[in-house]
Amino acid sequence: MLAPNLKTAIDRLAHLIENSNAVLPFTGAGISTECGIPDFRSPGGIWARMQPIPFDAFMASQEMRNEAWRRRFAMADEFKGARPGRGHLALASLYQAGKAPAVITQNIDNLHQESGIAPGDVVELHGNTTYAVCLGCSARYELPWVRQKFETGGGRAPDCDCGGHIKTATVSFGQAMPEDAMARAETLTLGCDLLLAIGSSLVVWPAAGFPMLAKRNGARLAIINREATEFDDMADLVIHDDIGTVLAPFVTGRA
Ligand code: NAD
Repeated sequence: MLAPNLKTAIDRLAHLIENSNAVLPFTGAGISTECGIPDFRSPGGIWARMQPIPFDAFMASQEMRNEAWRRRFAMADEFKGARPGRGHLALASLYQAGKAPAVITQNIDNLHQESGIAPGDVVELHGNTTYAVCLGCSARYELPWVRQKFETGGGRAPDCDCGGHIKTATVSFGQAMPEDAMARAETLTLGCDLLLAIGSSLVVWPAAGFPMLAKRNGARLAIINREATEFDDMADLVIHDDIGTVLAPFVTGRA
């Protein structure tokens, strides 16, 4: 049984969605915590355990590249069973019903694609950690290949044949944002009439600018997060509760 306040909030969210033509979900790490992937900033999150490796450090040192890959493979072992959660399935339902044209995400875990959203309609602002690229020639590498080289090389991160460094296809702090994804996200934001900011602390820029841009452009803004964010004051609806619980009623059929 849902608490009456939560039920009212979910009804308001349903009403906002029903009365919108283009719903744009904007998601952060919070949508994947129920799938067993920790976020960055919650207690016990990834940052409580280790600081991220900035891009310039990755580029400057073999040691840091080794460490980045060591962490990635430790993560792979920990999170390999992660499946889309109720939040992902609810957004896939909206997408398949033609309500949401795409999803903008800060996440790198591929779970929106796995929930049934076409890869071309998942706009990844921070890339994807389920494959790797050469930073020199942009060749794509699959993780099992990198891991095999890493392990047979005694824990040394491999380089590409072109001499470039191989890195997960993610955007690290200090690394340039992907221009195509940023441009697509802007177009989608300007075309939506309801932006749903879900499970993002909204402190990582420039990604956090999209909810604000939508609001300034006349769209409504709903925020679902278990903690307050700096954008709560400008939102039309704020639900401080668990994402899976809030979005479960929006899962329809086999999303
Ligand atoms: P964040 O860690 O800064 O914020 C996550 C927010 O979600 C927090 O405010 C937290 O209170 C909230 N939250 C967590 N679980 C929730 C739940 N079950 N219900 C409701 N709210 C919940 O994450 P961010 O804003 O996405 O920014 C951090 C960056 O970290 C992102 O850019 C992303 O690239 C990266 N990241 C990605 C993943 C992933 O792909 N799953 C995981 C960790 C970090």
